[in-house]
Amino acid sequence: MADAPSKSQTQPQSQKNLFAHQLQIPTATTPPLSESTNDSATATTKTPSGVVLDKDGKPCRTCTSAAAWRNLTKRAKATPSSSTTPTLPSPPKECPPDVEELGRSTWTLLHSMSATYPEKATAEQQTEMRGFLKLLSKLYPCWVCADDFRTWMAEPSGKNEPRLSGRKEFGNWMCEAHNEVNRKLGKKEFDCRFWEERWRTGWKDGRCD
Ligand SMILES: Cc1cc2nc3c(=O)[nH]c(=O)nc-3n(C[C@H](O)[C@H](O)[C@H](O)COP(=O)(O)OP(=O)(O)OC[C@H]3O[C@@H](n4cnc5c(N)ncnc54)[C@H](O)[C@@H]3O)c2cc1C
Repeated sequence: MADAPSKSQTQPQSQKNLFAHQLQIPTATTPPLSESTNDSATATTKTPSGVVLDKDGKPCRTCTSAAAWRNLTKRAKATPSSSTTPTLPSPPKECPPDVEELGRSTWTLLHSMSATYPEKATAEQQTEMRGFLKLLSKLYPCWVCADDFRTWMAEPSGKNEPRLSGRKEFGNWMCEAHNEVNRKLGKKEFDCRFWEERWRTGWKDGRCD
């Protein structure tokens, strides 16, 4: 269950958590997707468990796990008279990403960027990377993830600002950023001493050779 949002993420909007817009709501009144409204108050009260809403009040696929999304669409398709829950097949391939697939792909990109970052970065390279991270934290397709990432980076003490002087610093910073999300999702933290083996050199035991 490491990938599922933690219990606190299913609490109402007043609490600060990863999924401020994810509510635990009875599902019987869940409308089909096409019936979602732009009225966020209405939309949030009708959101089924685990589905995160977009800023316009509609379900946000890239903010939601594939399982929760399938539950939502299954419910939308179900006829009122259906009394049994069919077993869901495994998710089909080549479909739009859910929050997890999107996250895995993005971390692969981000850690690979730190792995190929210069050992000593020029001022220009640092500026470019800072700009990239700033934009990523605004444009990331899971908006709740983006909001939290941006907030974390902008922590007032400055302790979470990207460290961009060279590969080692940047790789460790990226590992810490990823661990921040791991913690919030209730996942195991990664030992940052090994980020380079995971993302650059391959493991010392030779399994990647
Ligand atoms: C910027 C950002 C913000 C996100 N915010 C959210 C969010 O708010 N809510 C949400 O549900 N999901 C969020 N995600 C997605 C989430 O982090 C995971 O990608 C997703 O849950 C899939 O997790 P996973 O267990 O498959 O492995 P991932 O966490 O995707 O990790 C992939 C691989 O990276 C390695 N790894 C793990 N931790 C580290 C680390 N600290 N340093 C180096 N390597 C590591 C491991 O080998 C792991 O298998 C976010 C993703 C990104 C990129």
